[in-house]
Amino acid sequence: MHKTKHSMSWRELFKLNHRALKLFYQRQPQMVISRFLQVIWTVLTPYVGIFLSARIIDELAGGRDVQSLQMLVLIALVSAAVIALGSALLHRWAQTQNAGESLKVENILSEKMMEMDYAALDEPHTAEQLSTIRQNLNGGGWGLYRVIESYEKLGSSLFTILGGLALTVTLFVSRVPDTAGTLAWLNHPFAAMGIIAFLLGITLLAPMLQNRSESYFAKYADSHNLGNRLFSFFGFLGYNREYALDMRMYRQDRICDQYNCNKEGTFFSNGLFAHLARGPMGLYAAAGGAVSVLFTGVAYLFVCLKAMAGAFGLGSVTQYVASISKASGGVSGLVSALGLMRNNAAFLRLTFDFLDIPNHMYQGSLTVEKRNDRKYQVEFRNVSFRYPGSDNYALRHVNMKFEIGRRLAVVGMNGSGKTTFIKLLCRLYDPTEGEILLNGIDIRKYNYREYMNIFSVVFQDFQLLALRLGENVASCVHYDREKVTDCLRKAGFSERLSDMELGPDTYLYKDYDENGVDISGGEAQKIAIARTLYKDAPFLILDEPTAALDPIAEAENYSRFDQIAGDKTAIYISHRLSSCKFCDEIVVFHEGAVIQRGTHDALVVDERGKYYELWQAKAQYYVETSCSF
Ligand code: ADP
Repeated sequence: MHKTKHSMSWRELFKLNHRALKLFYQRQPQMVISRFLQVIWTVLTPYVGIFLSARIIDELAGGRDVQSLQMLVLIALVSAAVIALGSALLHRWAQTQNAGESLKVENILSEKMMEMDYAALDEPHTAEQLSTIRQNLNGGGWGLYRVIESYEKLGSSLFTILGGLALTVTLFVSRVPDTAGTLAWLNHPFAAMGIIAFLLGITLLAPMLQNRSESYFAKYADSHNLGNRLFSFFGFLGYNREYALDMRMYRQDRICDQYNCNKEGTFFSNGLFAHLARGPMGLYAAAGGAVSVLFTGVAYLFVCLKAMAGAFGLGSVTQYVASISKASGGVSGLVSALGLMRNNAAFLRLTFDFLDIPNHMYQGSLTVEKRNDRKYQVEFRNVSFRYPGSDNYALRHVNMKFEIGRRLAVVGMNGSGKTTFIKLLCRLYDPTEGEILLNGIDIRKYNYREYMNIFSVVFQDFQLLALRLGENVASCVHYDREKVTDCLRKAGFSERLSDMELGPDTYLYKDYDENGVDISGGEAQKIAIARTLYKDAPFLILDEPTAALDPIAEAENYSRFDQIAGDKTAIYISHRLSSCKFCDEIVVFHEGAVIQRGTHDALVVDERGKYYELWQAKAQYYVETSCSF
């Protein structure tokens, strides 16, 4: 059993909750305002009814003046109508504003993911943090989901108490007549104070016991999270298309069953939470319920004694009893709202630890000059790089200048540093030593978004989204159909496109549309190439895909890429040496360093060079396809 430390001062607790509330307010102020107004309205309006009913009863039991009664009934009716109308309007407003709350929470998290240093995404700790936050949100609704709710409860309790107090003050100050005899002690100030203290004590005790019971969830958050993670992993494995084949082939469902039916599991009959529920959690909850019943009895007794002694009439009895119960509900609500905030604060702290992961990399502000002549000169100057947490250099003293409009091929064995080189060029990481320059200025100084605009990359493990083909190509919901079609045609996708009834509006995969199409690795690469074309950036980069294509299909893609690169600067990263033959320059990477560079014809005759070795090793594959260049 893991206990989570969650001691925290009230100050920090309010700071965390307040900061979280601000996050929502900044994104959707109307959501926050409408929900609070609704709370205030819902809480205060019942007192109008309580007050007016008391006056009507008093009138009935006392003066019985018809005109006064008529007036009171009329006021009661009109106010009831106004209250109902206001409630309906506020409810509607809050409902519509509230619709996207979970989406807002997702936005907060995903915005952070987008602006975070890429290197931080690599850290296993980051993934773990995010996954824990999501488990807390989806499992118990803890974290950001509880923020507005906590404030609603807090506000609602405070206003309930205020309203209740306003209608109960006279109970304590009204005096019983001196003729009351034995009941005259009710006039003694200690009587009122004693009763107030007793009622307050019970009122506080009940929710404290309840919170104590619920605090076990926060206390054992780690086990709770682990349980949820296991459940969401194993529980849904069977539905996951990517896993389905292996699941069936190796009967992995048996492993899942073992986890799902494990009686010792966190939420199962012999598990931690069942154990806690049978023990302290259950006892505290039961004691909390029992104690609140005492309250009602004592409050009734006090009001009835005073009424019997003649301090006030029948109408006031109903008013006091109703208001005291409400105010006491308010105090319970207040304690439970504070308890909720307290229990939730540990989860909020976790959320903010994640949201506060520093962003060091993307702080540059220099604008990238827009050049119609595409004359963007990029240079690697003595660049060395180690991945965070790694002792080995993935790149060593790389010096390179990209000639504008030329074709550069980067070749080398697996792990020689080719992909790392591209990642540095795209500033997914910054060099450990040396610098990369764009038109003579360190790329760190540029606004990152603008800098990225000059590159179009087909990454090694590029991904397409299960959305419309056009959305994939344009990376935008509103796409130019003609331009999309043209880019797909240039990328060699025409034939397949003509089979699609909806053309660029066809959904890829079946996740969101049952008529969506499945596509092969080669077709996916064509779509990815069309995407680079649509972006129309001055640098085109093609990293070899990990999913093996057959050499002919791949060579075809490379050659097409060469044609469509036109006057752009193009960089190819490839094992397929044959497909690099057309390049103006080939650089050979080995163990992170550039060990050879030159044209294919010059490199292939250097029998002692790495290029020659690679060429010989792979030659048998490419003899046929290389003829096409
Ligand atoms: P290539 O693209 O030539 O196959 P890479 O650039 O992917 O080579 O890898 C270069 C070296 O960096 C390899 O030794 C690889 O293991 C290491 N490497 C790649 N990615 C990471 C990473 N995220 N963290 C640590 N080391 C990495």
